[in-house]
Amino acid sequence: MPNVPKWVADQMENLLSSKYLDVEVAETISYSPEIKKITFRAELSHLDFYPGSSMVFRASDRELRHYTPSSFDREQGVFEILFHIHGKGPGSGLADRLLPGDRLKVSAPGGKKLYDKDKTFHFFFGDETSLSFYVALLREINRNKQWARGIFELNEINRKVPDDRGYEVRTVLRTPDEPAREAIILLEAWIIAKPELFRQSVFYLTGNVASVQKFRAVLKKHGISSKNIKLQGYWAEGSVGL
Ligand SMILES: Cc1cc2nc3c(=O)[nH]c(=O)nc-3n(C[C@H](O)[C@H](O)[C@H](O)COP(=O)(O)OP(=O)(O)OC[C@H]3O[C@@H](n4cnc5c(N)ncnc54)[C@H](O)[C@@H]3O)c2cc1C
Repeated sequence: MPNVPKWVADQMENLLSSKYLDVEVAETISYSPEIKKITFRAELSHLDFYPGSSMVFRASDRELRHYTPSSFDREQGVFEILFHIHGKGPGSGLADRLLPGDRLKVSAPGGKKLYDKDKTFHFFFGDETSLSFYVALLREINRNKQWARGIFELNEINRKVPDDRGYEVRTVLRTPDEPAREAIILLEAWIIAKPELFRQSVFYLTGNVASVQKFRAVLKKHGISSKNIKLQGYWAEGSVGL
């Protein structure tokens, strides 16, 4: 429900008050002109968090948008989110405007539990909107001494962000005319080089819907089982708030 009447959004906040948190912006850092990390302070001690859990932000009176924490520290009462500031919608506008000291209401984390903790090999494909999930996921993978690889399809202006942050992933250029073109070239070369490893991996595909769908089709062509593909589209060209 990305768009709801104002009174519905008001009622949801009031009636489900235990599911909404009062949060305060503690810090903002721009990693690039389009990637902004925001640290929020809130009472989190009673909440669960799983890598991939998302929170609903009220981007305007009527518009609700999902974002995924990259870290969630119950004891310290802080969580962080990496926002893609793409400039085309109210969610992006809100993230762009937020400053330390601003207060807002945000839903408790919920949604799909994507991380498959029983697998040893984890493979990630995403874009700017998936960086936050990737950071949360990688922390768990490292804690459990598992193996991870990933490809990020990014706008040129964000290509250096993963390397600057020390994320060990490959980046490719976004190609809107042919979604995931560069990522698929890389993926197929890797699958051919290490077919056994890819057959044992679990794949997390998040971000642009057209790109993740193309990527999944190639995985299936190479015999990867659907049960090892976790797909969640985060946005689609021309659609509002998935
Ligand atoms: C479960 C879930 C978790 C998510 N987690 C994150 C996260 O951690 N960080 C994050 O940045 N985003 C995340 N997203 C994606 C974010 O919710 C969408 O990008 C959302 O559409 C942004 O809302 P908006 O109001 O800015 O744009 P909208 O009003 O929804 O869309 C307006 C226009 O902008 C376009 N658009 C939307 N997103 C993008 C984009 N990223 N790049 C280019 N054009 C775009 C749309 O196609 C549309 O034409 C998540 C989405 C889901 C479903």
